Amino acid sequence: MSELVFQTITELSGRLATGEISSAELTRTFIARTKSLDQRVHAFNSFDAGDALAQAVASDERRAAGQSRGPLDGIPVGLKDVIAVTGQPLTASSRMLANFVSPYDATVTARLKQAGAVLWGRLNCDEFAMGSSTENSAFGPAANPWDLARVPGGSSGGSAAAVAAGEAVATLGSDTGGSIRQPAALCGVVGLKPTYGLVSRYGLVAFASSLDQIGPMTRTVEDAAIMLGAIAGHDENDSTSYRSQIPDYRAELKRRPGPWRIGLPREYFGEGLDPEIGAAVEQAVAFYRAQGCEVKPVSLPHTPYCLDTYYIIATAEASSNLARFDGVRYGHRSKDAKDAVDLYFKSRSEGFGPEVKRRIILGTYVLSSGYYDAFYLRAQKVRTLIRRDFLKAYEEVDALLTPTSPVPAFKLGEKSDPLALYLCDIYTIGVNLAGLPAISVPCGFTRAGLPIGLQLIGQPFQEADLLALAHVYERAHDWCRRRPAFAAVASSG
Ligand code: GLN
Repeated sequence: MSELVFQTITELSGRLATGEISSAELTRTFIARTKSLDQRVHAFNSFDAGDALAQAVASDERRAAGQSRGPLDGIPVGLKDVIAVTGQPLTASSRMLANFVSPYDATVTARLKQAGAVLWGRLNCDEFAMGSSTENSAFGPAANPWDLARVPGGSSGGSAAAVAAGEAVATLGSDTGGSIRQPAALCGVVGLKPTYGLVSRYGLVAFASSLDQIGPMTRTVEDAAIMLGAIAGHDENDSTSYRSQIPDYRAELKRRPGPWRIGLPREYFGEGLDPEIGAAVEQAVAFYRAQGCEVKPVSLPHTPYCLDTYYIIATAEASSNLARFDGVRYGHRSKDAKDAVDLYFKSRSEGFGPEVKRRIILGTYVLSSGYYDAFYLRAQKVRTLIRRDFLKAYEEVDALLTPTSPVPAFKLGEKSDPLALYLCDIYTIGVNLAGLPAISVPCGFTRAGLPIGLQLIGQPFQEADLLALAHVYERAHDWCRRRPAFAAVASSG
């Protein structure tokens, strides 16, 4: 069983094609495994085994009729619980939406269905995707499969943990300031945040609309290419989605051999970087050099302002987006409200958790009259400067290389101060502010056996190049073949 659950989309689609396994068998294997070990990992908020099995049977029937839809047909894929699936719960890990069932499909959901994927389970995350550890989930934190006493990162912690523990072949997460890449790094999987606008946000529970992007979390770069190919592309339901030809990302992996010019942003290698992570990233740099890449230092001088800028813009947009949860149309509705204002007040007080409230309050403050110019408007200007830093660097280099996270997975409950958690995103947030694509790939382990992630940052809409660059590294290393000890024990027991 453990064999099967740790295989890649590429491997499994091959076995499905030859008839060696059926999608129904595969899906049953994931259901059984998740039932047996997810009490400890808590990667899932919910799953609908009957529905998943019905999708798998439909996939097997298509295949038998010679109508297979490609590499994702019959593959169990999990979705972060902020992505809408018709008839399934959509909670955003919040009490506010604890009983909400989605009446429609997100565009990414519809596209995965179109590709034949078996939509498998709703994955745990920080409430409304706000956090870096999944500890802000109203339904309890997820655990890191490499050490169950540690966090899987966040906010897409369940999406990362599910892949790492062998509870899904691939998953989707969302990334507003690092929420795909940071948990991917902490759980030893691949996580890709696409260029802003490449993937439709329609049907994604909105956190900060100018930053949010949906992206894949997978075992390998090739699997990320397959998933991205299925979900990318223009959507008339999202006016910020980009009109472009979507390349065959998987085929392009082999067509783009480099060598690349790689920049190392000085500001990303300073104080606060765990020395073991620094050393692993240095080794990756040495690898690219040995491949004939030109590697040189570059500067992104506005990096020190990224965190402040992000926490003004993201909270401002969140305060506006979350205004829709008023207890009237959907979501939690307080039972003992006296009048309309009291209903809003009580429903929101009861429905939202502390971190979400903190962000709404902060966001409302920076948007309020008298403070708007000083905070929000200024942050928008600094955001432009941050983006210019990246574009200027790209005049000299093709891609940037950095650590994904300054620290490996930390203990559950260890970072109780919100600021300490915000600092987890110092290497990922600039990418969102600049709207760029970036990928985290496994690049080693600490002495304590915790995964380390390497971040590669690409140019706008050049995902094919970025994936190829990451693929070259991955092919020469076997990090993605390692299994957490817990997962091996869990499957033999
Ligand atoms: N950790 C960051 C935050 O709390 C980013 C979250 C995300 O990317 N969704 O806002």
